[in-house]
Amino acid sequence: MNDIFELIDKLSSKHSLSLEEYEKLILAKNDETTEYLKRKAVETRKNIYGNSVFIRGLIEISNICKNDCYYCGIRGSNKSCDRYRLNIEEIIECCKEGYSLGFRTLVLQGGEDGYFRDEMLVDLIRKIKAECPDCAVTLSLGERSKESYQRLYDASADRYLLRHETATKEHYQKLHPDNLSFENRMECLKNLKDIGFQTGCGFMVGSPFQTVSDIARDLKFIEEFRPDMCGIGPFIPHKDTPFANHPAGSAELTCCLLSIIRLIKPNILLPATTALGTINADGRENGIKSGANVIMPNLSPQSVRNKYMLYDNKLSDGNESAQNLENLKIKMRSIGYEVVTDRGDIIK
Ligand code: SAH
Repeated sequence: MNDIFELIDKLSSKHSLSLEEYEKLILAKNDETTEYLKRKAVETRKNIYGNSVFIRGLIEISNICKNDCYYCGIRGSNKSCDRYRLNIEEIIECCKEGYSLGFRTLVLQGGEDGYFRDEMLVDLIRKIKAECPDCAVTLSLGERSKESYQRLYDASADRYLLRHETATKEHYQKLHPDNLSFENRMECLKNLKDIGFQTGCGFMVGSPFQTVSDIARDLKFIEEFRPDMCGIGPFIPHKDTPFANHPAGSAELTCCLLSIIRLIKPNILLPATTALGTINADGRENGIKSGANVIMPNLSPQSVRNKYMLYDNKLSDGNESAQNLENLKIKMRSIGYEVVTDRGDIIK
């Protein structure tokens, strides 16, 4: 038992553990060690970001996707998915609304929709920057060529989120069809970082076939890759996917991993994700109380909100809705945090 406390101390001073130590930390956790881990993570986060919570307006620009990831509700072969794509004007409208609500980061996320070619996105990014000059633009549009990423960066996109999904090749292959490769995913992440994007990776907690040693490798990958952002949330099954009958991941383990990731990289931008808020009514508060410092409310047009269904019952209303920012602020204040109007760049 004592050695678990020692492991936590070691992690918070060295920001590194061996694979075996990460495994041990996860396997041997109990209420007391989790409490200690959480306390260290919050302390670390407060030393850098105080009690600020950064918000990102999430605009889901298209649910059309050429890929067929086994876990994802908007996978190409899901015939029951009601497809949509926002046009440039609609996206700009969302951005303007987000800006007036106080968002200074706009995130464009979508399936891998071939309609959004480089020229289209370059034009879109320039227009957003013209309308909302002091906003950061984050993209989360999947795998593209290095040349494409470079064009988007040159058009002044600031950040890119591309979850690695799992740092274990064999596990990656169990979550994706053969035409998607672990190597390409990792190559994309490296390219994004080399180009100069503030880069985010991440993974699902409790995805089908995930073992504790897979999670340890995810943590080691985060330690070595040194991302600026990291999105983790529980896997939640979607009824129209091959993984419909797999159990959801745990909110508790997700929070514990948020704390560990905070200690691995003290200045990381770490969201309490929608998936965490979906499986647990207090999920996002618990995420923030475990060391997360970012929340990404939904800014998509109301008419498409229930169509970007990555998993069953995905939240997009209530406190997930950008329009309910006031409630979110009150919620955060009640646990000692302050939602701020700020780009929320990483503090180096
Ligand atoms: N096409 C983009 C965006 C994907 S959606 C890309 O490839 O990056 C964003 C994230 O949602 C995915 O990276 C995945 O980790 C997560 N996700 C997808 N299906 C999910 C599910 N069933 N449960 C929980 N998270 C899921």
